[in-house]
Amino acid sequence: MIPYGRQDIQDDDIAAVVEVLRSDFLTQGPKVPAFEAAVASHCGVAHALAVNSATSALHIACLALGVGRGDLVWTSPITFVASANCALYCGAEIDFVDIDPATFNLCPKALKEKLDVAKAAGKLPKVVIPVHMTGQSCDMASIRELSFQYGFAVIEDASHAIGGRYRDTVIGSCAYSDITVFSFHPVKIITTAEGGMALTQNADLARSMALLRSHGITREASLMEEESHGPWYYEQQALGYNYRMTDMQAALGVSQMKHLDAWVARRQVLADRYDQLLRDLPVIAPVRVSDRYSALHLYVIQLDQDKTGKSRREVFESLRAAGVGVNVHYIPVHLQPYYKRLGFTAGQYPLSEAYYARAISLPMFPKMTEQQQDTVVNALKQALS
Ligand SMILES: *Cc1c(COP(=O)(O)O)cnc(C)c1O
Repeated sequence: MIPYGRQDIQDDDIAAVVEVLRSDFLTQGPKVPAFEAAVASHCGVAHALAVNSATSALHIACLALGVGRGDLVWTSPITFVASANCALYCGAEIDFVDIDPATFNLCPKALKEKLDVAKAAGKLPKVVIPVHMTGQSCDMASIRELSFQYGFAVIEDASHAIGGRYRDTVIGSCAYSDITVFSFHPVKIITTAEGGMALTQNADLARSMALLRSHGITREASLMEEESHGPWYYEQQALGYNYRMTDMQAALGVSQMKHLDAWVARRQVLADRYDQLLRDLPVIAPVRVSDRYSALHLYVIQLDQDKTGKSRREVFESLRAAGVGVNVHYIPVHLQPYYKRLGFTAGQYPLSEAYYARAISLPMFPKMTEQQQDTVVNALKQALS
């Protein structure tokens, strides 16, 4: 089976992890700050906090921004459930903004309309979480302008998008947001097995997230609330969690960062080639917007239902039967049973639901060969005929 995504682990990655295994520290040693420094330097951002997943990063990002009971958080329905769950962890309410069908990203026009309604009702969101779906940035300039106008904070869920750019900024620079979150799950652009990171330019948010990722405990003398009891002294100042990344993971991350630019460049080559090979098929290829450089985590096609009698399910099953590990990203979050029990219903976000009905993620990973790509395209032709 050709997988839809796959990590690339090379000898230098393995050597980096083995070195940690032979060292004094398996966790909380020098590799975590080294990984944070490498990502911060790539992004041109002041603060980077490594954690054990993007889900944890989203959680502590919401908490640092003061999200709690009675607050509202908005995100896109076309995302992994974690982008919405993080608000619920904090006791807040979640709501969704429909997508722009061209980019699958949260639509700034729909956001503006929803904000006007919310303002009239006195129910504005505290935080909005735009998701850079497939690795292509949202229209961040418009979203940031609305955030200043209506007074909400912005967390970029850039789980798909490390290595990407928006206009003249690097994703992760937080040029248009308060906090940006990356995921290092193996299917993403680079991996630490499990792992994530929260980035910010704001020192207070960074301090707060640093506390929250490790039990709410600090050992830094300058941050103590009370007088030290002695050299062993530490303080718990908030109710935090154990969301720490290990040194083994961080060493893998440092090593993977060296491949980042080449891997994202390889994804462009594969995407360009897909665009060519799919030109005459009854499918809608993904749009790449000219002011964005997508990290191309996913290559999502949509069946052109006017031109093919085949259902998405038929095409999907036929591809799987041919050894092509296609996938679907994502089932709209509001259609999950858990979210339906919170009151969401089918029909609420029609553009997200229409996208979902015809989307298929084709295999896309840096080590993919042209031969494998031809196999995918031929199987798709078969499936559509
Ligand atoms: C993968 C993913 C997450 C969660 O990442 P983890 O590191 O697995 O917790 C969150 N949001 C999006 C959009 C993702 O794709």
